[in-house]
Amino acid sequence: MDRKREAGIPKKKGSSILKKALAIDNSRCTGCRNCELACSVEHTQTFNPRRSRIQVLKKEKRDIIMPVVCLQCENPLCQEACPTGAIHRNEEEILTVNPNSCIGCGNCVNACIYGGIAIDPITLKAIKCDLCGGNPACVEACEYDAISVVTLDGDGLRERAQGVGDLAKKYGLVREEA
Ligand code: SF4
Repeated sequence: MDRKREAGIPKKKGSSILKKALAIDNSRCTGCRNCELACSVEHTQTFNPRRSRIQVLKKEKRDIIMPVVCLQCENPLCQEACPTGAIHRNEEEILTVNPNSCIGCGNCVNACIYGGIAIDPITLKAIKCDLCGGNPACVEACEYDAISVVTLDGDGLRERAQGVGDLAKKYGLVREEA
């Protein structure tokens, strides 16, 4: 299936859609950081990778390139850790931060084991992927089709788990079967 066509979530607010999340195919990522810039422009109208909701971690000496983004967890540790209830699922079932309630304490950042939430250096509030309300800018910007939107049921859950598992193995975070 055309990976970008899969990103075609209806933009209309309030429409009933299944839970979605971004999935990363790390084998396709070149580390070009186009996704970071696209995300920053979409959300802040500035080219500032530090304000992006997707972060490409790089350690070139060890040949590590790892895009990190919110996985829209079923039982989100960030939501559980937030003392003000600022993190909730919106009407499209996407985990969202309410900037009016967020006090920038960073508990959510510490709680997320995937690095999927950060503090914006300008607003000092938590920021995370909101799937751009339907058409993620990072998906559109990635020339290498390394990012796609998956539906979190059956195949989508497997694709997301596979991506996380592949990364963990690649970087030695889990022990390979003997
Ligand atoms: S930084 Fe904001 S969203 Fe995160 S735990 Fe603190 S109050 Fe909640």
